[in-house]
Amino acid sequence: MTQPTVWLDRMTSPQVKEAINNGYRTVLLAVGSTEQHGPHLPLGTDSFIGDTLVEQVARQLGKTLVAPTIRVGCSEHHMAFAGTMTLREEVLEEVLADCCRSLARHGFRAVVLIPVHGGNVEAVEKTAQRLARESLSARVPAQLDNSAYITAMVEVGGKYDVTPGEAGTHAGHCETSVVLAYHPELVDMSKAARGKVDLGFDSEERLHEEGMHSLSPIGILGDATRSSAEAGKDYMECMVSRIADQIRETMAGLLT
Ligand SMILES: [Zn+2]
Repeated sequence: MTQPTVWLDRMTSPQVKEAINNGYRTVLLAVGSTEQHGPHLPLGTDSFIGDTLVEQVARQLGKTLVAPTIRVGCSEHHMAFAGTMTLREEVLEEVLADCCRSLARHGFRAVVLIPVHGGNVEAVEKTAQRLARESLSARVPAQLDNSAYITAMVEVGGKYDVTPGEAGTHAGHCETSVVLAYHPELVDMSKAARGKVDLGFDSEERLHEEGMHSLSPIGILGDATRSSAEAGKDYMECMVSRIADQIRETMAGLLT
């Protein structure tokens, strides 16, 4: 028998009501993007990765549902590449705040915001702070600790003889492998390439100042060439278990 869905938008309204009555009081909300991911990955890469991540985290946590992933985020720094869509930060904040307020009205106690794209981190943080000031009936913690991603790049990358720079923060070995694992039909490995591999984990600031095109004309921070579905499952498993642990810890702190 297949497991019942954790996706709110795949359930009926009576099913959601019953779940809330049965103690499903936490909702995860991934905040993704529609932005270029090199010549070989789809623009929805962050959102697809977010879908898999939050679904698996919700199953590990138990009694947790998943709201539909926000599929457009703050991607101004990728606008030199065709197809990228971007929201102004204040617009994303408003969208996130209204999503959380809606869920709070139905009796959910916590909505965990999970940015799965670096450009969304600020909007997510500000939304969480703003809703804390509103004294919303639901708590809205933001999952801002990126150590799960760093650990995955170091540990899983190491297992496949890939440096953290090659695992990459954008469309490199990590993201390419994960999309190969869960959406292989969306990857064109014949176009996978080696991009800029000498940036640290703090590349976000430079990326925002200079734009992706000036750092890597092909839009890749990392090396996509040796990616595999097997590595993708490993990366995902590593990120899921660590993020589930972090959320458990955050929730325990909120409830005491
Ligand atoms: Zn990405």
